[in-house]
Formats: sequence, structure tokens, C-alpha cells
Amino acid sequence: MKVRAAVLRQVGQPAPYALSQPLVIEKVELAPPGPGELCVRVLAAGLCHSDLSVIDGSRLRPMPMVLGHEATGEIVELGADVQGFRVGDRVVFCFIPNCGRCEPCASGRPALCELGAAANAAGTLLGGGRRWLDANGVTLHHLLGVSGFAEYTVVSARSAVRIDDDLVPEIAALFGCAVMTGVGAVVNTAKVAAGESVAIFGLGGVGLAALLGAHASAANPLIAIDVAAHKFKLARDLGATHCVDAGDGDAVDRVREISRGGVQFAIESVGSERVLAQAYAATRRGGTTVTVGLPPPDRMLSVPAFSLVTEERTIKGSYMGSAVPSRDVPRFIALYRAGHLPVDRMLTHRLQLDEINTGFDRLVRAETIRQVVLL
Ligand SMILES: [Zn+2]
Ligand SMILES: [Zn+2]
Repeated sequence: MKVRAAVLRQVGQPAPYALSQPLVIEKVELAPPGPGELCVRVLAAGLCHSDLSVIDGSRLRPMPMVLGHEATGEIVELGADVQGFRVGDRVVFCFIPNCGRCEPCASGRPALCELGAAANAAGTLLGGGRRWLDANGVTLHHLLGVSGFAEYTVVSARSAVRIDDDLVPEIAALFGCAVMTGVGAVVNTAKVAAGESVAIFGLGGVGLAALLGAHASAANPLIAIDVAAHKFKLARDLGATHCVDAGDGDAVDRVREISRGGVQFAIESVGSERVLAQAYAATRRGGTTVTVGLPPPDRMLSVPAFSLVTEERTIKGSYMGSAVPSRDVPRFIALYRAGHLPVDRMLTHRLQLDEINTGFDRLVRAETIRQVVLL
């Protein structure tokens, strides 16, 4: 079928994107779902920093590609051999498909699925195929098995989690990346307990979701750090007990002062090795630093090696919030419905598909938390 989709053909075009238009809305051909796949009418798709790092070239992906990886929709067609889904089901996509059989999947760590990682690197679906063709018959790649910036998409059933029908699409979409990654980093990776101290470095979508997760876990004190002081009111509303302006004095000293010697958990969501080193320095003896940000692949982290042993410090990576999507999407949605995760407060803009380049300009300028394209 013919669908409108946002296609990226050339990375590294200069901002402002409203002028350079790196994403082009094209009519492309979407093939029917193959075995184990679903065709989904996309209802909403969020703009995430990971899309931006593909657009600006800091994260190289095969081109051309249909972008978008934080999305939700309604199933319109099932491929052969699909179990557990029906036409009409609403789903949230997860951006790492899990095969269910490799060693990480078998160990309960589907975010590390080896086949999923290989398919994502190749820009294919989990089964290996690609379902997009442009007007000239050129095959387009899938972003992270999702490609949500399109009216319809085809995904592996292993990239989808069924959700309740009545959840508003622009909220539901956020559970696919920002919420799963941010809340997951706190509850799955860090495993914060009530009364433990937490510092969140970076208040983008993922950082604010981590703040929500830490507040829901009764972290105290709960310290929010950013260079954009205009985000502090929202951070306080969402449960931060203290806000530290990283552009004003030494943020590490301030966090260590507030937490009386360093926090038990520091969560880094900026994607900067420099901020990650600060997060590490802000933890106390026995403390844990969790990083969810994605620095460019060539960056190295330097920390005092001695402190890992004598102070029993820990550094942990958290990919997709160390989530088990089929467990965590429903439980995080239930927490939202119960009022413990006010995810709706993160939604700042609703866009049409053809406003998408302007939306990415806003993200570059940090004028927004989460923007969602309604399809
Ligand atoms: Zn994302
Ligand atoms: Zn696997």
C-alpha cells in the first residue's frame, strides 16, 4: 500500500532543519507483513534525541531510512504465524526486537537480544527483511525495527507490546522509548529503594522520565541537574527536592553538599562522557552511576580506577531501561493510570507529519520535552 512517511536520505545536513529539510515526507510503498510480522496504522510517534543523532550523523545508520522509534498504533493486518495479537489491537513499539531464544533473551535480558541488535544495525526487521520501497523502487531501511514516522508501518510482532484501547495515543507513544528507558533505568537497572538518594543529570525526555521513576520509588533527596534552568519548575513539580544549575558553579560539589557526601545513585541521560564523569564523582562510597545517554561511539570515559575497589563504586549501562517490554510497558502504564507516573506532563507539543523538521529544530534548541506527531 502507498503511505506517507518521513524519509532521511542524507545525514549531517545543517540546522535549522526547517530550511535544510533533512526529513522528506514521501509517498512510499509498504509491503504486506511477512511471517511473524504486523502491519500497524501508526497513531502517534514521539521525537527523540536518538532520531536526532541519526539526522545529524553522530549515530551512523544505513541510508535511506524511515525514521521514528517511539510510537503507538493499531494493528490492521497480521502476517502468517502471528500469535498473541489480533487485528484492531493497540500496540506500543519497543525499539529492540527480542527473539526470545538467544542467550540474553533466555537470561531475561531482552534489551540485549543479539538478533535484535544485528537487525537494528542492518536497518531490517527482526526476520531480516525490509518492507519499504520509494517511488523509484529503491528499498528503504527501518529504524530500530519501528519506523514510526509513517501513516502505516510493518514491524516484527517481537517489536510490539499490546496495550489498553483507551489510552490516548500521544501518551501511549511515550512508553515506547522515553518512559521505558528513563523509568526502567531507575527501577530495573539502579533498583532504587525508598529513601535512597538519587541525582538525575540531564532533564530531556529520558531524564525527566527517570525523575518520575525516582519520585515513584520515593527517592530522597531527589536532585535534578541541567544547564537549562527553565526546566527546573517542571522538575520540582514532578518531585525533584533540589535543582542544580550545571552552568552556575560546580554541580558535583552542590550535589555532594545536598546529599551530605554524595548520592547513592546518579543517573546520566545527557550522552556526554564529561557529564558521566561528573555523575560518577557525585556518588558516595558504595554508590552506583547508571548511564542511559548515548555519547558518540569514539568517546572514552576516565575515572579514578582505585575508587572502584576501595569505595566499591559501580558504573552500569542501561539500554532501553534494562526493560522486559511485555512486563514493563503494562506495569508503567498502570503506574501512570494510578497517578504515580504523570507522563502527560512531559508532552509539550503535538505536530503534523509535515511539521517534523521544525520539531527537530525545537529539540536541538532544548525548547521542548516531548513532541509527538499525530498521524
Ligand atoms: Zn528514543
Ligand atoms: Zn534474543
